[in-house]
Amino acid sequence: MKRSLTVMGNWKMNGTRGDNESLLRELVFEVKKFPSVEVAVFPPAVFIDAVAQQLVGSPIRVGAQDVCEQLKPGAFTGEILGAMLKELGCRYALVGHSERRHVYGETDERVAAKFAAAQHSGLTPVLCVGEQLEDREGGQTEAVLDRQLLAVIDQAGIASLRGALIAYEPVWAIGTGKTASPQQAQAAHAHIRGLIAARDAKIAGSIAILYGGSVKADNAAELFAQPDVDGGLIGGASLKASEFLAICGAAQALHDE
Ligand code: PEP
Repeated sequence: MKRSLTVMGNWKMNGTRGDNESLLRELVFEVKKFPSVEVAVFPPAVFIDAVAQQLVGSPIRVGAQDVCEQLKPGAFTGEILGAMLKELGCRYALVGHSERRHVYGETDERVAAKFAAAQHSGLTPVLCVGEQLEDREGGQTEAVLDRQLLAVIDQAGIASLRGALIAYEPVWAIGTGKTASPQQAQAAHAHIRGLIAARDAKIAGSIAILYGGSVKADNAAELFAQPDVDGGLIGGASLKASEFLAICGAAQALHDE
């Protein structure tokens, strides 16, 4: 069966206006080779406007790396309302990225509120979940995934996952060069899909579950070949056009198989 995969590039706090322009110039030109892959980039918030303008007419979508949990404008210094991101042209918003959870102390409850706020603004949330090394070593991977997912399901309802995406990102694999093995990724993805299926089989069958954590051109194909891996959320490798495009190429090749 032909599968359409999604490849998303999280630029994190990197880049300058000039870097972005030249990276996007290459991506826009080459992305035509991957018509079956949904491609999106997540620039730092200050660059979203310019990136969205450069991508007008291109199938590459824009996303925000984070979104405020508030539903209305107000006195929340430094925060960005979902409606503002939507106005700039964002399609997606990451919520619960491990750097937000573990560097900036975001709780499961706040992540769930951000998920709901993204949807409230018409943004498609990409819910990031994943265990830390001590969780995996302590046999707690599934318990952590359950806790992170149920926080959203309990607060926003199972139906809120319709149309959303999930990114499984083991924290020990993010930015470390240590990728989860295809078997480890598949096991976690199957667990996530199973938890959703127990509540709504239709949503479980259609939701895209991306893998993130040191995905590179040379390991993307075997990760994406796993039956429950529907693409990737790419950090470091999304900053280099040739690497990111090769990852998109791996996704297109699986579709064409
Ligand atoms: C990420 O930031 O979501 C990520 C997966 O980073 P990296 O690919 O660099 O591990």
